[in-house]
Amino acid sequence: MVHYHEVGLKGRNRDFFEGTLARNIKRALRGTGYRRVRRGFGRISVEFEPGGDAAAAAQRAACVFGVAYVGHGVRVEPALDALARAAVTLMPPGSFSSFAIRARRSYSSLDLSSREINVAVGQAVVDATGGPVDLDDPDATVHIELFGNTAAVYRERLEGPGGLPAGVSGRMLALLSGGIDSPVAAWRMARRGAEVECLHFHGQPFTDPSSVRQVTDICGVLSRYQLAVTLHLVPLGDVQREIVTHAPSSLRTILYRRAMLRIAAALAEQREARALVTGDSLGQVASQTIENLATIDAAVPGATVLRPLIGMDKQEIIDDALRIGTYALSVRPYQDCCVLFEPRRPATRAHPDIVAGAESELDVDALVGKALAGLQTQEVTLPPVDR
Ligand code: ATP
Ligand code: MG
Repeated sequence: MVHYHEVGLKGRNRDFFEGTLARNIKRALRGTGYRRVRRGFGRISVEFEPGGDAAAAAQRAACVFGVAYVGHGVRVEPALDALARAAVTLMPPGSFSSFAIRARRSYSSLDLSSREINVAVGQAVVDATGGPVDLDDPDATVHIELFGNTAAVYRERLEGPGGLPAGVSGRMLALLSGGIDSPVAAWRMARRGAEVECLHFHGQPFTDPSSVRQVTDICGVLSRYQLAVTLHLVPLGDVQREIVTHAPSSLRTILYRRAMLRIAAALAEQREARALVTGDSLGQVASQTIENLATIDAAVPGATVLRPLIGMDKQEIIDDALRIGTYALSVRPYQDCCVLFEPRRPATRAHPDIVAGAESELDVDALVGKALAGLQTQEVTLPPVDR
């Protein structure tokens, strides 16, 4: 049983949102042996072939954007004795210290209230196990869902990520560094329904390929949520060398960032992506003062640059990264292109005129073109469950 909150509230878009969600769930469940995915009664239900791996499927569905929670158990007739038998089977004696039954009905053919069902099924579990009922803080909860002329009974409930189904908000291009922040930024926009493509700048041949491995692995984690992630790799080393040769060292980082955004904006146009996404958080490092962010954005006047982490503390970002599953990958050592020729004293308030003056020494359009000529694109997809 897959439940969603927000997707159900979208008025006339509801059908589109639910259809997208159901399709995304099917893709996430490949290999689990599901028989069919059905929409109805404000939820999505998935049935399995004998031998299907419903537990693995529940784990996978609980990552899909738009999902509020997932329950995995059995489907039975909407009759008290069948519900009681299912509940008793799910609750072997000794497997819990206290319990509650929570029935919910929507348009059910069973003519009993939720309360009557809770009491009768709860009594059956007490008779079978002696287990104490605790309605306030139960150790185990048996959920019963009654809808139409069927019922589902399950014990666990997996929390989903919430948000909107991947793809309903259009395409965006996220600048992915391999660090802790940018994967969280990409994930947050994907959770709001964006189809996020990722762009990584590497320093090869001046650095080793470790950053590319890093972002490829991170995209593997993001694919649990978005199912498929397009990853664009662009070499930045030549651009950086030009900047190092022609511009004051204190402006290097800002000029790198401006070059990154220009290249990203050009690629976004090719890909029909509506916004750029970065992992900046206000004041975290010298390049992320509001003055410098404004100077960086001024390089791409026509673009929309989204910074979903702008108001977050580092610890909050780390907590997100842990929850998403990217943290352990991000903290591995890797060679970041930005540490090439890193200035000892980066400017914290670079004036736009000074930056523009320094940039006039460079043939910016040629550099963007040259970097994009080295573009490599790969698809990172969630593999089917291997049973
Ligand atoms: P992160 O943890 O995402 O690396 P950070 O705290 O290290 O961020 P910066 O190095 O200033 O901060 O980078 C700011 C943002 O610029 C990143 O979040 C990312 O969106 C983008 N960025 C930085 N380096 C790269 C890169 N090599 N490739 C693509 N985007 C990058
Ligand atoms: Mg970084």
